[in-house]
Amino acid sequence: MDAYPYLARLNPEQREAVETLEGPLLVLAGAGTGKTRVLTARFAHILLTGRAAPGEVLAVTFTNKAAREMRERVAAMIGRPVEGLWLGTFHALCVRLLRRHAERVGLRSSFTILDTDDQLRLLKQVMEAAGIDQKRWPPQGLMAVIQRWKDRGLTPEGITPAEDSDFAPGRARSLYADYQARLLSLNACDFGDLLLHTVTLLQRQPEVLAECQRRFRYLLVDEYQDTNTVQYLWLRLLAQAHRNICCVGDDDQSIYSWRGAEVENILRFERDFPGARIVRLERNYRSTRPILAAASALIAQNEGRLGKTLRPGRDDAEGDKIEVHALWDSEEEARMVAGRIEALRREGHAAGEIAVLVRTGAQTRAFEERLILLGIPYRVVGGPRFYERAEIRDALAYMRLLASPADDLAFERIVNTPRRGVGDGALRAITSHARAEKLPLSLAAEALLGTDLLKGRARPALAEFFRDLSRWRAMLDREGHVATVAAMLDESGYTEMWRKDPSPEAPGRLDNLRELLRAIADFETLEGFLEHVALVTENDEASDGDRVTLMTLHAAKGLEFDTVFLPGWEEGLFPNQRALDDGGQKALEEERRLAYVGLTRARRRAIISWAANRRLYANWQAAIPSRFLAELPEAEVERVAAPGLAGRPPQDAPSVFPAIGFGGARRGRVIEAGAWEVAERPARPDPFAVGERVFHQKFGYGTVRSVEDDKLEVEFATGLKRLLDRFVERA
Ligand code: ATP
Ligand code: MG
Repeated sequence: MDAYPYLARLNPEQREAVETLEGPLLVLAGAGTGKTRVLTARFAHILLTGRAAPGEVLAVTFTNKAAREMRERVAAMIGRPVEGLWLGTFHALCVRLLRRHAERVGLRSSFTILDTDDQLRLLKQVMEAAGIDQKRWPPQGLMAVIQRWKDRGLTPEGITPAEDSDFAPGRARSLYADYQARLLSLNACDFGDLLLHTVTLLQRQPEVLAECQRRFRYLLVDEYQDTNTVQYLWLRLLAQAHRNICCVGDDDQSIYSWRGAEVENILRFERDFPGARIVRLERNYRSTRPILAAASALIAQNEGRLGKTLRPGRDDAEGDKIEVHALWDSEEEARMVAGRIEALRREGHAAGEIAVLVRTGAQTRAFEERLILLGIPYRVVGGPRFYERAEIRDALAYMRLLASPADDLAFERIVNTPRRGVGDGALRAITSHARAEKLPLSLAAEALLGTDLLKGRARPALAEFFRDLSRWRAMLDREGHVATVAAMLDESGYTEMWRKDPSPEAPGRLDNLRELLRAIADFETLEGFLEHVALVTENDEASDGDRVTLMTLHAAKGLEFDTVFLPGWEEGLFPNQRALDDGGQKALEEERRLAYVGLTRARRRAIISWAANRRLYANWQAAIPSRFLAELPEAEVERVAAPGLAGRPPQDAPSVFPAIGFGGARRGRVIEAGAWEVAERPARPDPFAVGERVFHQKFGYGTVRSVEDDKLEVEFATGLKRLLDRFVERA
């Protein structure tokens, strides 16, 4: 027993899931019941009982960050650092496998992984070559169609004419085939290919499959409910022989169907692995009882659930009610949230234990502004990604070209950035020479230097560019990648370009480039760094320091915080109208699961809010409270309304706004900015004075100690609190 101290920290059901090491096992359990803890303990247990070496376990997590955490925990459990683990996201694991066997799918092991920018550029080229009208059929549409096919594990040959898409009817399949051929000729993959190629490889190459099955003797999968078909196929192939596969998941947290995830994979598991052991965990160790009661009541509204019980498992499970705040507008909502965060910090709560979870990325800006104003440190996860910024993409293209001269997309991106006089004419000459000679663009360009096909400034400019490139390549061997990249960005004139740029963003871009150089230094080689970048996903931003986290509900999966703010619970925003328009009832249920995921991230405090008027993208929009608010059990909820706003969500919408004549407001109605005056806010006619007695719904009677705009400090029996004046009444 003592040899395995982590077993003592598990309840009997969890322990069963950890100790049942042989055969298929599915842990099906609600949020916070310890699924991830079980998976981690199981990993350690496999190693410590000597059933497999570290490199013989394959473990899949939903984000790279979750993989890092699991790696650290496993190392702590077994008491030494572990090397050579196959632990990561589906994509990270597949890229590793694929590099080893690249030739078997027609790639070289140095293949590059494209981002969406590159992907679109390539799709445009393919569509142009096929003579498809891109105004009528935007390339983004084709990208989505192809992605969906890849999610389903379909290669172009695997698609029957009947399955062809509505996109450019009758053409999508062959465009897909053209695109795949182009990718191969560029020695490149898109994100979806990483899985598709790996599955194809295992399906078509029995020796590779057998080798993988021998090597990966145990499979572990977290967040199983959000796997898509191609991921499922991959797991099934690997597990077929030994059947030592353990998946943990929660059908109520399936929130990625829009990315091709299939919750049915849970049902398939039992079918494909007959006799699979199913373990259910019911005790939730994360949240207080009121939070669990609220989350359970909410999710109970969904139909077609597998059905699970969630019981409070913490010793200190009692706690505050869920707060639901009704506010006049989104700016007031941001003030409320930031003010509460400020108060929590003053009470000694760490910023890192507070999160604001939003339905759509655009919502974060209002909170950011308030937090900046109050000097509260925060980070946005899943915002505009660092690695997607133009200057970073440019710098990466320089590095890619340095690492691999055959990277045509990188060449195209930077050959004339900064401007060196290599215009469209020169590029056309280079492209046609490359086609004719079957050469990568950069080699074709070099070959043209000695001819008169390059005109004007293009020739000397390119000659200098190639001299620079070979100098940097030599430097890379001699002085290492960090010094070389720094020199390359300076000597190419790239940093200079931004230094001279008068736009207000330019200094920030230079900062980003410096940050990039810092990031490179963490890697041993340039290739290692480029691979890392290709695999960073939007949910992976660094989690340094003690900061409030702002992120989307989607990105919050698997995480936990003491305090969680859930703003924007309004019809149209959440549930999201766009999702409902696309997906009807099914989409509504997915939105509700998202609400369940949001609530169950909170350990101690969940603070929901909605605003009667919201500004998104410069327009004011009237809103009514989300139907999810009406689904929360009254006994667990404390409703706080701004004066004049109904505190409770009505069953029938129009009655929310009797005071301000919004009777006819429907969800999604856009009010012109000028019409905003319609929604007269009841201004506080006479401000509070120091010494006045006030009443607060939760804290009771108190005395005002200081007044600053709409902020009050009030002495209650329980202590001094900072509040917004609209939350107290004169006593
Ligand atoms: P989610 O569905 O949100 O991913 P989960 O089922 O993976 O949740 P974990 O994150 O593993 O749950 O666990 C939730 C919290 O409960 C963690 O803080 C974990 O350390 C704690 N926990 C899990 N099991 C126990 C236990 N037996 N005793 C005490 N704490 C536990
Ligand atoms: Mg988990």
